[in-house]
Amino acid sequence: MMNAKSENAFTKGWSSVAEIDVQAIRSNLSALRSHSTANIKQMAVIKADAYGHGAAKVGRFIESDVDWIGVYQVREGAELRKKGVEKPILVFGTPTEQNREYYLDFNLTATVSDMSHFAILLPGTSYHIKFDTGMGRVGFLPEMLDDVQKVIESEHLLRYTGLMTHFANSEVPGSPLFESQKRNFERIVEELGEGVLVHASNSGATMHQTGVHYDMIRNGTAIYGFDPNGVYNPSLKPALSWFSKLVQVRKMPKGSGVSYSHTWHMPEDGYVGVIPVGYADGINRRLSNKMKVEINGKEYPQVGNVTMDQIMVYLGSDKPDIGEKVLILGGTGGCSAYAWADLLGTITYEVTCAIGNRVKRVYV
Ligand SMILES: *Cc1c(COP(=O)(O)O)cnc(C)c1O
Repeated sequence: MMNAKSENAFTKGWSSVAEIDVQAIRSNLSALRSHSTANIKQMAVIKADAYGHGAAKVGRFIESDVDWIGVYQVREGAELRKKGVEKPILVFGTPTEQNREYYLDFNLTATVSDMSHFAILLPGTSYHIKFDTGMGRVGFLPEMLDDVQKVIESEHLLRYTGLMTHFANSEVPGSPLFESQKRNFERIVEELGEGVLVHASNSGATMHQTGVHYDMIRNGTAIYGFDPNGVYNPSLKPALSWFSKLVQVRKMPKGSGVSYSHTWHMPEDGYVGVIPVGYADGINRRLSNKMKVEINGKEYPQVGNVTMDQIMVYLGSDKPDIGEKVLILGGTGGCSAYAWADLLGTITYEVTCAIGNRVKRVYV
C-alpha cells in the first residue's frame, strides 16, 4: 500500500510521487555528527532543492537539528527565509552587482572568493572567506593570503565572520591531494581563523577524514542517505523513494518491438507493464534497457527506450493489477540511486537532483 498522502497526490492528477522519509534525514544528520566532537556545529546543505528532495520542506523539518543551512543561489536562500527558516544561511554562490541586495534583504551570509567581491557587497553584509586550497573551482589561491589579510583588516563596512575551503576528493582516504589541501588550509587558518567560524568538511571529509572538522561540518549528500564514495553505507539511510503505478498491463506477442526505434523485442509471448514516468520526470534516457523497477517486492527489467512520459517493463508471464505500486528509484538494491549512478557512470548526487517538478514530493 502507498502512503495516504501519496494516494492523495494521485487523486490530484500526479503520475508519481517521491516520498521523503524525514526521520531518515534526521538519523543521517546525527550519524554524521557522531563523526565529530560534540561542540562542532553542523550545516545542512540544501542547495539544488535539497538535492531534489525539496528545500523548503526539508529546510523547515530539519532546521532545529542543525546550526546552519547552506545553499548556492541567493534566490534559494530568499525562498527559505520566505518559508520561515531562521537559522543562519550561507550562500556558496558568487555575489554580483545584480544579486547583492539579497544578502541584506534576507539576512544571508556571502561567500567572498575574489577581490572584486569586497567592492560588490553592500555595507553591513556578513561574509565568509573562501580559499581554493586545491579544488580548482573558486576561491583565493594560498599565495594570496597576505593580500587577503590586508583587505580584511582594512575593510570595516563588511563583517568578516567565517573562513572556509572545499575539498576535491575527500571521500578518498589517504589521498595526496586531500593531504595537500589540508596542509594549505592549516596555514591559512593560522593567519585568518581567529574569532571566526572555520569550516571545510563536506560529507566525504566528515565521514572519511580526520582533523579537518574545525568549527563546523557541511553536510549535503550524506544527509539524504548517500556515501559520497558511491558505495552503499549501512550507517546512512536513503531518504527518497520514488513511486508510480502501473497504468496498463498489455499482452504482447513474441518478436514485437517495444518503444521508439525498437531497441528491444519480446522474447516470448508475455506481458508488458506501462508506467507513467519518463525522461521529463528525471529518468535519464541512457537508462533505457538497463534500469529495473520493483513491483510486489520483485524486480523487473525496463525495456525499450525510455520515452518522455512513459516507460515499459517486461513482466514475462506475471500479470500484476493495474494500479499496482511501482518503485522507480529507492532502497539499496537494483533500484537504488547507487545502481542508477553506476549504470549512468555518474554520482548519486546527479541522480536525485534530476528528479523533476512533475514528481510530487510527499513527506512521511
Ligand atoms: C555542495 C557543497 C557541500 C556539500 O557537499 P556534499 O558532498 O554533498 O556533502 C559543502 N560545501 C560546499 C561549498 C558545497 O558546494
